[in-house]
Amino acid sequence: MMTQIKQRLAILGSTGSIGTQTLDIVRRYKERLEVTVLTARNHWEQLVAQALEFDPDSVVIANEAHYGAVREALAAYPIKVYAGEAALEQVVASEQVDTVVMALVGYSGLFPTASALRHGKRVALANKECLVVAGEIITRLSVEHHAPILPVDSEHSAIFQCLAGEHTAVEKVILTASGGPFLHKSPSDLRKVTVEEALNHPNWCMGAKVTVDSASLMNKGFEVIEARWLFGLRPEQIEVVIHPGSVIHSMVQFCDGAIKAQIGTPDMHLPIQYALSYPVRLPMEGQRVDFCALGNLEFLAPDVERFPNLSLAYECLRRGENAGAILNAANEVAVEAFLARKIGFTEIARINRQTLELSKIRPCASLEEYRQTDLEARALARTLLC
Ligand code: MG
Repeated sequence: MMTQIKQRLAILGSTGSIGTQTLDIVRRYKERLEVTVLTARNHWEQLVAQALEFDPDSVVIANEAHYGAVREALAAYPIKVYAGEAALEQVVASEQVDTVVMALVGYSGLFPTASALRHGKRVALANKECLVVAGEIITRLSVEHHAPILPVDSEHSAIFQCLAGEHTAVEKVILTASGGPFLHKSPSDLRKVTVEEALNHPNWCMGAKVTVDSASLMNKGFEVIEARWLFGLRPEQIEVVIHPGSVIHSMVQFCDGAIKAQIGTPDMHLPIQYALSYPVRLPMEGQRVDFCALGNLEFLAPDVERFPNLSLAYECLRRGENAGAILNAANEVAVEAFLARKIGFTEIARINRQTLELSKIRPCASLEEYRQTDLEARALARTLLC
């Protein structure tokens, strides 16, 4: 009997939304996929439970405060236990890893992603922020080390799926956006929205940070920058359309005017599985789209007056250099403050804009220089919180 060679996965952020859904797929396709590395930041008990189920070669608990607890819980098993952020950069380089599922939140994904690419690993990328911060370096590492980046973000997976089998340049891509929970709120109502309202996304179930980013359209802005780097596009080739139903996950328009759309129910299992099974598709159970039940599909232009974060992202794309890193740092500080109920919802875009205005946009030749930008922009954004 032929034995299938298994794809060995390092799942960074295994206890988060993307991480747990990746493990659902591993459970379904045990003959094709195996887990050799699992990592979490704080949810150490869940990490231990996952380790006991999937028997990885090693685990990392990024928050060192939980190291003792994880070590003790796994003491009877031949599973290596590491702690700290730096360990993430080491475990992705392991000989035991073919593919890194990069599901860390925010800036923390930058250095581990760079390390994975440098070691020639295939990266299934759910962490868009590493491309927002340092897209030029990340995509260059991918090319230099023959380490493909496979998009997990649903819009970019949709574009990637539409591009399969095509050999001509695209005219433009059309990113769809649900518009989030505040699509129809007036400017004065937007100022008063609560954390609970922001976390109540109409279509997608995701982590807190990306859910707030979706409500503020910062997520869509970041996805514009992500598309620029993943697909080598100019800013004017990337259009955003509000599509509240989230049935069309994104579209590609070709030079003859033909448009291909990828359509499906809003379920992240599909883009994750496609990134792991590419270039083939594997069966997946679950709901299918029923067009007759859907009736009409609605489309709207994004309102950048009420949601200025989208314009800020385009501005960063045009300015290039370290502008994306500044915007990302400001946004992480602002979203954290909003989730801690220190600032109102509309203050997020205000802090992002002011941090960009007050920062020096300059070229960065290395990841270290981007780290410096990140530190400076965070410090500046904190002074703007009040
Ligand atoms: Mg997305």
